[in-house]
Amino acid sequence: MKYLEEKIRAEGVVLPGHVLKVGHFANHQIDIALLREMARELARLYADAGVTKVLTIEASGIALAAAAALEMNVPMVFAKKNATANVSGEVYRAQVASFTHKRVYDVIVPKEYLSADDCVLIVDDFLAQGNALNGLIDIVGESGASVAGCGIIIEKGFQGGGDALRAKGIRVESLAIVESMDADTGVITFRGE
Ligand code: 5GP
Repeated sequence: MKYLEEKIRAEGVVLPGHVLKVGHFANHQIDIALLREMARELARLYADAGVTKVLTIEASGIALAAAAALEMNVPMVFAKKNATANVSGEVYRAQVASFTHKRVYDVIVPKEYLSADDCVLIVDDFLAQGNALNGLIDIVGESGASVAGCGIIIEKGFQGGGDALRAKGIRVESLAIVESMDADTGVITFRGE
């Protein structure tokens, strides 16, 4: 999405450690008009994929996942990062190493929310090394459901997670793919430029 790339270039902040901050429009404060366009784009890309559910991971994937699910008229489910007292019963569980927080989380989805009949679109705000998506893909696999593909706001292409998933045959649609970014100069380039 050209407009998204322009917005990232104009407003994104490149931090040391390969972290891009877009909290003022994409994942903390959210530009609702942009969110609607991104959700419509994912719904268009996956229109013929037979998606029955949208799955994401808390917290920052939830906005796009909910908006995409609304466009596709299917339920949205999010994986919780730690089992809490109000998650009872049987759960699917995977371990995810957090890129931004440098720790490993257990992520869980109650078994009642995914079944073998489901065809799942997995959504997240960022794709870096692919740990979050791989955890969610494992959970979908455990449930017997199929993965329609992944829908991402910003893939950092230089970190390799997206291309590794594509090499495994998983469809990954990223609305913007950052090919390089420099914390000293703030210069960002996108795939295909
Ligand atoms: P991965 O698991 O693919 O290595 O990293 C993706 C996850 O880490 C996403 O759920 C996202 O929340 C977080 N993340 C990775 N890179 C960035 C980044 O540059 N900026 C922000 N805000 N989050 C990131």
